[in-house]
Amino acid sequence: MLVNMRYTEHLVLSGIVNGAFLFILYMTFHIDVFRAELIVPLLMTFYIFSILPDIDHQKSHASGILNLFLIYLFGSSAFDFYNTFNPFDLAKIIIAIAIFIVHAKYSENSYLHRKFPHTFTFGIVACLLLYFLANSILVCMVGAISFFTHILSDGYVIRAIEKDRTLWRLVGSKITAIKNKIPKRKGF
Ligand SMILES: [Zn+2]
Repeated sequence: MLVNMRYTEHLVLSGIVNGAFLFILYMTFHIDVFRAELIVPLLMTFYIFSILPDIDHQKSHASGILNLFLIYLFGSSAFDFYNTFNPFDLAKIIIAIAIFIVHAKYSENSYLHRKFPHTFTFGIVACLLLYFLANSILVCMVGAISFFTHILSDGYVIRAIEKDRTLWRLVGSKITAIKNKIPKRKGF
């Protein structure tokens, strides 16, 4: 059954699952997550990844956070560019505008058409990016748990897998089409 959950409900459920996971880690391996260098990225990851799939909905909390971040990126880069004329800041301004436009066009005002962010392919890509950013397996695991809990509590696991399969079949057929276009070399 498909469920439309509020972001607060997603956070509560994900908080319970992550809390249990970290508690078991603490009891078995004595990993202390309350160290300053760990607790901040863990909390940020928990918050963002628990609501991340709903970025495909225009009026979701996740989209609100994305837009706030883009406004911040645009504002701070414009300020820096005004002061230093660094082309790197100009690139950041263009990226912020581009993401804003793509998101506004891609996201929809309905949960009937849950999109790519509600697939496990998206979840894995997001977790890989997170791993490169945070460089921590534990943070990455909390990201994966938060993402999975979201899809699970949406009642969307089976549909997400179906979407993943359709997606990969499409990728497979595109690769075969490209391969077939490349002329085969004749043997000597
Ligand atoms: Zn959702």
